Amino acid sequence: MTGRPVPTAGPGDEPAGAGLDSVAALVASRVRDVPDFPRPGIQFKDLTPLFADGPAFRAAVAAMLRQRDRGSFDVVVGIEARGFLVAAAVACAAGTGVVPVRKAGKLPWHSVSARYELEYGEATVEMHEDAFATARRALIVDDVLATGGTLAAAADLVGRAGGQVAGMSVLLELAALGGRSRLSGYDVHSLLTV
Ligand code: AMP
Repeated sequence: MTGRPVPTAGPGDEPAGAGLDSVAALVASRVRDVPDFPRPGIQFKDLTPLFADGPAFRAAVAAMLRQRDRGSFDVVVGIEARGFLVAAAVACAAGTGVVPVRKAGKLPWHSVSARYELEYGEATVEMHEDAFATARRALIVDDVLATGGTLAAAADLVGRAGGQVAGMSVLLELAALGGRSRLSGYDVHSLLTV
């Protein structure tokens, strides 16, 4: 959180007359920087203040959808764990279903898997192999874009499960980590870039 005046959101979808910039400022005011978490040297972007603020969260989700052509996707893919919160909200607002990308060993059905490196460690993620039986054009949603490894792994899973990546949307992009360069060829949107 910053010392600046805190923007507010009303009970509707977005602050009155709000452009994307003002929603981005609202999001920025609800991000808590936590140094050295989960490891020394990592500046963790804690979005729980945003998730806890109903009007601000709702405004952020509506703005993420406004960055998109609503006709371009018919399912949302969400990444465990914080990404689930954002993806489910985006899917509900868009009226689509949501497909989970989970950490290894959590999914009950036949799955495809991808191993990758992230800003602070490495991970394996999985998706059900029949995830796109009814809707194929996937908008991949996560909370934070850092090095881009997570979104790249999710895109790999979408392709191997028979889906198509329609785009990627995140609340917050850490530009200094250059993740966007790993995602060339994809339509990537972030609500707030720091
Ligand atoms: P990356 O694969 O490096 O783009 O990392 C993105 C994923 O890791 C997202 O799912 C985030 O939740 C998480 N993440 C990575 N770095 C941070 C950070 N500095 N603050 C908060 N979450 C992060």
